[in-house]
Amino acid sequence: MPVAERAKQPPSSPSRLLLPPEAYRQAVDQADLAISITDAKANILFANEAFARVTGYTPEEIIGQNESVLSNHTTPDSLYKAMWAELSAQRPWSGKLLNRKKSGDLYLAELTISPVVDAAGKTTHFLGMHRDITELHRLERVVRNQKKLIESVIDSAPMAFALLDQNGRVILDNQEYKKLVSDLHVKEPAHTLLDSLLPNWAEALAQSPEQCAFANREARIDRATGRPRWLSVSASLIDIHSDCADSYFCAVGQPGLLLAISDVTSLREEQEKARAAALQAVLADEERTAAIREGLSAAIFRLEEPMNVMASAVSVLQRRDPASAGVLQQALAASREHMESLRQVIPQSPQEIVVRVNLNEILRDVLEICTPRLLGAGVTVDWQPAATLPPLLGRPLQLRMLFKALVDNAIEAMNIKGWKRRELSLTSAVRHDCIVISVFDSGPGIPEEWRHKAFEPFFTAKNGSGKHIGTGLSRAQQVVADHGGIIDLDESPSGGCAAIVEFRLDGDPI
Ligand code: FAD
Repeated sequence: MPVAERAKQPPSSPSRLLLPPEAYRQAVDQADLAISITDAKANILFANEAFARVTGYTPEEIIGQNESVLSNHTTPDSLYKAMWAELSAQRPWSGKLLNRKKSGDLYLAELTISPVVDAAGKTTHFLGMHRDITELHRLERVVRNQKKLIESVIDSAPMAFALLDQNGRVILDNQEYKKLVSDLHVKEPAHTLLDSLLPNWAEALAQSPEQCAFANREARIDRATGRPRWLSVSASLIDIHSDCADSYFCAVGQPGLLLAISDVTSLREEQEKARAAALQAVLADEERTAAIREGLSAAIFRLEEPMNVMASAVSVLQRRDPASAGVLQQALAASREHMESLRQVIPQSPQEIVVRVNLNEILRDVLEICTPRLLGAGVTVDWQPAATLPPLLGRPLQLRMLFKALVDNAIEAMNIKGWKRRELSLTSAVRHDCIVISVFDSGPGIPEEWRHKAFEPFFTAKNGSGKHIGTGLSRAQQVVADHGGIIDLDESPSGGCAAIVEFRLDGDPI
């Protein structure tokens, strides 16, 4: 109720009637809060015992003086103006002022002034109540300074920090973390990293947070532009104390997850370079072996045809000229034997063990290995990886061969004399429990009627011939099938060929 309205109420309510006026005076006098009552011009008419304790002035010394005697004259004038504006409008005012005691010592006063309004609506007095909050203010400053100190320490740390509450919200971070947000172009890098390192982290953090702690796990973040980033992450649980009123008497902590993230990209890049060189050698070796295997297979495939003709000739001759048929039969048997020996020497690819692979890593390796060819053919590459991919159980070398074959096919398709548009687009994504890899080129594409045939061994769509000469896509299909996936050919958005490979995340490689 506004002060003026309250002033119009009947002076004696039932409770007031029971309280003797002396009790009023004693209560105010003995209250542990510096209380003063002034006239309308702030001249002090009454000051209690606590006022004397806080200011050092006895009631005899202070009565008759203006409240301004307490002013240190360093409180901004604007504050007094605002204070008096409120009081003139008969509204109470609260704030902090710098006061000077009788001894000359300064103290910070937290003051509340209430206008006292008479029945006619006129301000007759002011009631002032204040306490010395110098010590409280000092402690607040200590806490604030400590907080600033901690903030500047974590801000100057060369690693990123993010503190997540139990709902997964980032409630504290540092400058390095903010840099990650802009560098990685993701909304919340902490979530992206946890998605990659601990796929069920959100559930675990809410229900059994102890499962979320780990040390030095590495995550690779792929970006459409720029190099991939390698981040080493440690997650530890810390207690976050609630600042809600209901936790005042029973300070129960809530678990929070502190992520410490350091960039290990340069170290990994060095390792990657060495690995890529070794990989290139292994792939070249495997390709040579595959070329021998394909060459021999093609030779055997082609030899089958004349031998089949010979076999029919034997059956025709057997009735008319058994002697010649016998000679031919022997020649045929000898050829079959040689062919079998040839089949025996076809080199087999070494059996690889199944490990957890990151397809983004495989694709980037392939792009790196194919870079000289891509540059040579003037092909521009648009690489759109999923920021993180769940691991796939597979054979890394086979998978690299698979995607290298698809990229090689795309380069070859566009590397035609006079062909202007030379764009290769590579994307990885997770869709409905599947990892989907798309390889789009802007070449002439494969006509629809040939698409199903393209997976047959020795088929080529080059020069529009439709003749069988290579085993690239058939081998690719075999690798995909061995990994429990499917491969499909379609038309790319630019009218070229689109090779789409899908691997089920729960797929079991043969
Ligand atoms: P002042 O000459 O007092 O004036 C400062 C500004 O306030 C000017 O803009 C002036 O126009 C305005 N003003 C002053 N008096 C009035 C008025 N009666 N009506 C409207 N506007 C006015 N000050 C402290 O520094 N410490 C205290 O602990 C403190 N306690 C107070 C307790 C009460 C109950 C009241 C009513 C006031 C209190 N004040 C206190 C305020 C004090 O009265 C002075 O206004 C203040 O100290 C500034 O003093 P000054 O001499 O620098 O300027």
